[in-house]
Amino acid sequence: MKNPWKLPLGELTEVARQAARKDHGDVVTYVVNRNANFTRICHVGCAFCGFGRRPGTPGATTDTIDRVVARVGETPWVTEVCLQGGIDPDLPPSYYFDLVRELRKNFPWMHLHAFSPMEIDSLCAKAGEEPEVMLPRLRAAGVGSIPGTAAEILVDRVRKKISRNKLPVARWTRIVRAAHLAGLRSSATILFGHVETWEDIRSHFEVLRRLQGETGGFTELVPLAFVPYENRLGRMLAQRTGGMSRLEERIRRRARRLYPLARLVLGDLIPNLQTSWVKLGVEGAAESLDWGCNDFGGTLYEESITRSSGGRHGEGMEPEAIEEAIRRAGRIPRRRTTLYGAVKNPFSLGKKSCQASARGHFAL
Ligand code: SF4
Repeated sequence: MKNPWKLPLGELTEVARQAARKDHGDVVTYVVNRNANFTRICHVGCAFCGFGRRPGTPGATTDTIDRVVARVGETPWVTEVCLQGGIDPDLPPSYYFDLVRELRKNFPWMHLHAFSPMEIDSLCAKAGEEPEVMLPRLRAAGVGSIPGTAAEILVDRVRKKISRNKLPVARWTRIVRAAHLAGLRSSATILFGHVETWEDIRSHFEVLRRLQGETGGFTELVPLAFVPYENRLGRMLAQRTGGMSRLEERIRRRARRLYPLARLVLGDLIPNLQTSWVKLGVEGAAESLDWGCNDFGGTLYEESITRSSGGRHGEGMEPEAIEEAIRRAGRIPRRRTTLYGAVKNPFSLGKKSCQASARGHFAL
């Protein structure tokens, strides 16, 4: 294969499209899921974030566990709940464990995709435990897998510029490795379209390749386009690039090249490449199925993080609408579990088709 980093865009896209088709045929998967963002309190202060609130400032709140359970109970048909929040130095480890146990107790059919490496780092610090001890404990409590977020760009020089208080690359890698070795698989992510160079992206992919070669624990790569509207970094970059529309165009151009590169550079080790309708819009996500993606992401009935940065594509997309978008792109939709297995739960359908049955079955 020719060096993908050097291919012109048209050829790169075509080779990536063919590679995805070879591995996945016409099938495009998606998951019926929701987020449950339980605290906005965060002392980290990432420049790209519109979600976190400094302790004591307006909007800096944490939900009670009962409140989170009630919210998740509004969508009993989901097969996955993604639990992530800010980094609140005063939220005790017991909250995280109780939250997981309560959700497991109330919704045993849901997979808990819980706590970013940054949250796990903070949990370790609070509990005085190493990741190699903490992660098996989280698994025993009921966590099913972890999101590979807080990766941003896995180059310390870049991390210092966009989120100087975030855990360093070596710590992120150690935590994700410990998760994989504890039997918890994870996604892998990359936040692109800000100050990173193509060389940084290459280094990021290299970190993921090395770790995947070691553990095999990544389920998919989820490229996350930077949402610039309501955060410090977006304002600064818009000024530097000559306005928000120019910055948007730069992010679009980067996405256009990054997805096919991800398919070709990582696809042999991480076969699933997930698009994001929350970041790219439904049309953009459908288009990206021709850039090497084979997964449409999830229904995301609750999504606060992208919206807090001014994301313009809303939250919550019914399975029927996802399937329609996939079919319109000429592909075959297939629902999956978090870990890319077949869905067995007959009630894990969409709101329209299954809410009534789910209510009856689970006696909410
Ligand atoms: S990205 Fe996460 S860690 Fe960073 S400020 Fe936002 S909530 Fe806090």
